[in-house]
Amino acid sequence: MTTEFRPTAEQIPAQTLPYPASQEDMIPQPDSDLSNYSPAGKLHGKVALITGGDSGIGRAVAIAYAMEGANVAIVYNENDKDANIAKALVEETGQHCLTIKADVRDSEECKQAVTQTVERFGQLNILVNNAGYQKVQFEIEEISDEQFRRTMETNMFGYFYMLKAALPHLKAGDTVINTSSILGLIGKEFLVDYSASKGAINAFTKATAQNLAKRKIRVNAVAPGPVWTPGIPGTMTAEQVDNFDKDNAMERAAQPEELAPTYVYFASEDSSFVTGAILEVTGGQVSST
Ligand code: NAD
Repeated sequence: MTTEFRPTAEQIPAQTLPYPASQEDMIPQPDSDLSNYSPAGKLHGKVALITGGDSGIGRAVAIAYAMEGANVAIVYNENDKDANIAKALVEETGQHCLTIKADVRDSEECKQAVTQTVERFGQLNILVNNAGYQKVQFEIEEISDEQFRRTMETNMFGYFYMLKAALPHLKAGDTVINTSSILGLIGKEFLVDYSASKGAINAFTKATAQNLAKRKIRVNAVAPGPVWTPGIPGTMTAEQVDNFDKDNAMERAAQPEELAPTYVYFASEDSSFVTGAILEVTGGQVSST
């Protein structure tokens, strides 16, 4: 879908879905098919592993990578239906897709996901750390220790476990892309633990980029603003989802496919001199109020 037809905030009605929400239950359906994207073989012969690749941003990135010529492994934790749809969409491009059900909070499961990917495709060139968890709490006292731990373990520990598992297979020219959030830079009053975890990802991205430069492995992060994905109706109140989201200069949320080209850029030689960058794709979001 082209820019003039993107859904406005007013076209997103109040709704909540049980967590983890399924993309197919959302109204309107997110755009993640990249129907207007022109691929150029930028990832020909590469293999990518994308966590949270079953839906939302991860699904759009999986399709874009496949359109660019990569085979793709998708890690997801619960939603078999979304994973199977994402696999079918990747395979429609002519590339192969491996779906792996695993919990990124478990380092052993991360190691197994990497092993399965390399056994199936013979190599690993691109790691996209994208799985994420958030839960809205309006008061700090309402954030349970368990919630805080789950947020950090999913959003931060999982990125570390996946990187450590992938490193033995990554070589010069390979890339790591972390999904951060604009909230890791500006914070959000009702997503305190989530904002903190995304801030940690930003520092993790810069530090690992410095560390891995000697191996010629580049590490970058994408910091999205609001994106219309299952994580929104699955974790926010109906009132927050209603008219989602005018908190940026463009006064609308992105569709997942609007994020994907940035991930292609970081994965390809087009960004050969870029490492440790945090690229904001936010529609011009500069504050959280
Ligand atoms: P999404 O719900 O489509 O994707 C999140 C995915 O994370 C799930 O589908 C699931 O597969 C995976 N996941 C969650 N916990 C996991 C676990 N323990 N183990 C393995 N996989 C797990 O939502 P999305 O919005 O596309 O989220 C993708 C990333 O984008 C997240 O890191 C999120 O924080 C980030 N982000 C989203 C927005 C937004 O407005 N949607 C804004 C900024 C950043």
